[in-house]
Amino acid sequence: MAEYKCFKCGNEIKSEDLKKRFKCPHCDSKIFFKPRRKVKVVKAE
Ligand SMILES: [Zn+2]
Repeated sequence: MAEYKCFKCGNEIKSEDLKKRFKCPHCDSKIFFKPRRKVKVVKAE
């Protein structure tokens, strides 16, 4: 079961919600990302 986060407002969205409507129920954004995916921190010097 995948969970997504809205790129715009940061709210969590269940994949079930996206099956009904592929947009954020909070802000109608259509851009999402998977928070489970670890973001690599790159050190810029
Ligand atoms: Zn949103």
